[in-house]
Amino acid sequence: MTSSIPSPHGNKLVNRIVVSDKKNLDGMYTLQVTNELRNDIENIADGIFSPLEGFVGENDFHSIVKTGRLSNGLAWTVPIVLDVDQQQAGKIKDAGQVALTSMNNEKFAILHVEEIYQFDKLACAKAIYQTDDIKHPGVEKTVNMKDMLVGGKIDVIKRLDESPLRKYRMTPAQTRAEISRRGWKSVVGFQTRNVPHVAHEMLQKAALNLFDGLLVNPLIGKKKHGDFKDELILSSYVALIDNYYPKNMVMFVTLHTEMRYAGPKEAIHHAIMRKNFGCSHFIVGRDHAGVGSYYHPFAAHEIFKDYIDIEIKPIFFPAFYYCKMCLMYSNERNCPHGPELREELSGTNMRKMVSNGDMPARHLMRPEVAKIIVSFKEPFV
Ligand SMILES: [Zn+2]
Repeated sequence: MTSSIPSPHGNKLVNRIVVSDKKNLDGMYTLQVTNELRNDIENIADGIFSPLEGFVGENDFHSIVKTGRLSNGLAWTVPIVLDVDQQQAGKIKDAGQVALTSMNNEKFAILHVEEIYQFDKLACAKAIYQTDDIKHPGVEKTVNMKDMLVGGKIDVIKRLDESPLRKYRMTPAQTRAEISRRGWKSVVGFQTRNVPHVAHEMLQKAALNLFDGLLVNPLIGKKKHGDFKDELILSSYVALIDNYYPKNMVMFVTLHTEMRYAGPKEAIHHAIMRKNFGCSHFIVGRDHAGVGSYYHPFAAHEIFKDYIDIEIKPIFFPAFYYCKMCLMYSNERNCPHGPELREELSGTNMRKMVSNGDMPARHLMRPEVAKIIVSFKEPFV
């Protein structure tokens, strides 16, 4: 397939890491942020959210909510915001520059305050998540936010400490350099928040027949109750790739941000981040980034019709299953047999496997992967 690596979103790879610059933050007003937000602030600084250089201001915020684009028209579907209460807002306004601290009180970034504004939480939630049902995790989070938003650029002066979970983290500058070193002209990105079944592997390998390289890019960060834990997603993928993937065809990189469960809007957001990493194509799953039954299973496919300017091409594979008649992994495009002949690892099968220590059939889950899952204490969030 002829293709080329796209430029970063908005044609600019943001870099707002100033770790070498020993800025004096003493006496600066401080604002504490959650671990999830600290990850996203580092994502901004590393250009994963390019072209954003900080938290969005009021114009961009309203534009994202209303049109799914920044005020300059560039595709952007999920507002990256910092919420503060009235009292903090007053202090921040006077301070101009604010030192951001993590939950352990480490000062790690500077926020250059540009504007402070109010927002309609419910209207915002409804636009992004397409529901105002408080049971939706994204809606719940939005209505529980503080009342004001702060817009402004950030500079990160101290990265998060290295940890086993961050061993495979890379910046877009690093992934792009590696893609260039490998000479890939097309790269397909695969988003996941699950442990790998053979069905996922077969889908990724089907994609590898079409493109120069594959970027397996699991999302590491806050997830909902019942999802697999990050450590498990990471170690099971490492085992799978070590044993079953050609090293020169695949890159394994983690993306540290929380799931928002915004369905179609998040599918666009996921695609933009992968474009920044250097992917030319992105696999969009059935009910991508969905939760419950809030989104039509193909809504995350349909939305790409409104974003033909996005410069990363979505790839829509039908779900893969093992067909007992075809004796191979198949899908509804190439197999005529009915659901009674399909073998899939359901959520129920997986929970049974975890609670009883039963190993699934090896054509459904690789034994190297299954062993890691059954031996993991408390595998779910
Ligand atoms: Zn079949």
